[in-house]
Amino acid sequence: MTTEIPNRHEALVKELASQLTGQHLIAGQWQSETDVERFQSLDPVTNQTLALSFAEAGERQIDAAVTAAGAAFVQYRQTRPQARAAFLEAIATELENDSVLITAAAMLESGLPQARINGELGRTANQLRLFASELRETPSPLLIDKANPERTPLPKPELRLTQLPLGPVAVFGASNFPLAFSTAGGDSASALAAGCPVIVKGHPAHPATSELVARAIARATSRCDMPSAVFSLLQGRRPELSTGLVSHSGIQAVGFTGSFKVGRLLADCCAARAKPIPFYGELGSINPQLLLPGKLQAEAETLAGHQHQSMLMAQGQFCTSPGLILALADSESSQKALARYRSVLSQAITETEAAPMLTPGIAESFQTRSKQLLANPALELLAQGKAAAALHHTRPLLLETGAESLLASPDLMEEVFGPFALLVTVKSEAELQAVIQALDGQLTASVHATSSDLQGYPDVLEALQYKVGRLIFNQMPTGVEVCHAMNHGGPFPASTDLRSTSVGTQAMARFLRPLSLQNLPSELTNSFNQGQVSDQHPGARYF
Ligand code: NAP
Repeated sequence: MTTEIPNRHEALVKELASQLTGQHLIAGQWQSETDVERFQSLDPVTNQTLALSFAEAGERQIDAAVTAAGAAFVQYRQTRPQARAAFLEAIATELENDSVLITAAAMLESGLPQARINGELGRTANQLRLFASELRETPSPLLIDKANPERTPLPKPELRLTQLPLGPVAVFGASNFPLAFSTAGGDSASALAAGCPVIVKGHPAHPATSELVARAIARATSRCDMPSAVFSLLQGRRPELSTGLVSHSGIQAVGFTGSFKVGRLLADCCAARAKPIPFYGELGSINPQLLLPGKLQAEAETLAGHQHQSMLMAQGQFCTSPGLILALADSESSQKALARYRSVLSQAITETEAAPMLTPGIAESFQTRSKQLLANPALELLAQGKAAAALHHTRPLLLETGAESLLASPDLMEEVFGPFALLVTVKSEAELQAVIQALDGQLTASVHATSSDLQGYPDVLEALQYKVGRLIFNQMPTGVEVCHAMNHGGPFPASTDLRSTSVGTQAMARFLRPLSLQNLPSELTNSFNQGQVSDQHPGARYF
């Protein structure tokens, strides 16, 4: 249901309507069919549909994009890492060249503020440049076992470990990062860096942004003389588009960020194919905040302030939002400190305005979950933000329970996507260990501790690391650094493959497979891009 509020960005919508095709980008061409079903973009702040419509992709478009990507793969996989690096840098430059319109569209379609969207555009461009520098520095081959013809009883052959790109990759744009995890985001950048063509299924929450970003990629593709089908964009909101894309035999891997329900469904589609393919899904996390007694007593008010700030970032719509607070209050003084923490955090939440969510669907699901939780007798209401001015805006929510109740209802440990946190009072180390054991896999957990806390609870820390992809000390989890040592993944359901990361340069490994070359003739070293066998080979490790 949409409202009749006048369009708050009429001029921008007119500008976008004059520039956008509302079509899919397939093999460098914006498709021109006019007889297809269409859907409209929406302003989540007003819940008003915008005069921007987009074609729904069907089987024909999926097949055209995947077939063209398969043909492009043969050429793209033979490009030198330096050429792919220049391509990624060109995409970053083209994004920046069109940054005014891209950021305006992303703000309009997501409701996110300018500072956040500007930061996200910068992060997207820097991410592309980081992969470019990684491509220039990664040795090929990675490892060399030198031959030993004299070895007895059998001579040792020379082996070189190298890597090959998998082939066309399907990438799902995320609703909560219209730039950094969408069309030219981390999944696309890492797949393109690896040598894989990409087909993006744009998120229907920001189709105009997706088209503008795809346009920038298309300009970079032609500037760098890359095959035109190295990148395609399919738009649509029918489930058949998602399932049809990941089930197409030409797709060789999938990158996804979104809900547990859809992630599981698509993972199952990938596993059920005649030839199963890897599915890299980032599905959900409640990012536990462990407050240890010494730290709680020393800094209760500061910790509460940090929690408030972190859980409200982007109205709680971050995969790293801190949704569970485990406060170990095992003495009278730590219970007093917890009371101070509770009071400061509750006060801050009570004074917080309601705000729009990224999509009406996300707002509705937050409101439904909030109602269910408020009706749960095992939970106590600590604080709720100010009443919402519009039905699709949401009020932050803070609830409390004890460890026993949490352990009795594991569903309380499911992600509530939005401005929510559950404070859990834990009375002993044994109880804390039981809660940690009961946790699902998480992207992150933070330990707030003094140095004597750290020495006092070694078993807790030892157990916690097995539940997470990133263990953080004395910092909040929101804000994911894009760098070499970042791991943004974790045991299921944080991600569907706990051995991989979707952020940082290691993300490229998801779209590569190992290949060993044994006894490679010297006249073929250049064809296989292997350099010369030499102890001076840059970066390679010799055995
Ligand atoms: P989503 O519902 O999982 O949608 C992700 C993608 O899958 C979209 O392109 C969506 O397009 C498609 N899709 C939706 N339903 C489908 C179905 N039944 N079959 C096949 N494809 C389907 O995620 P969302 O729209 O971003 O947000 C919904 C919920 O996802 C949130 O409330 C939150 O719980 C979770 N979420 C989590 C994270 C995280 O980082 N942990 C991030 C974003 C969202 P259509 O909807 O048009 O079909």
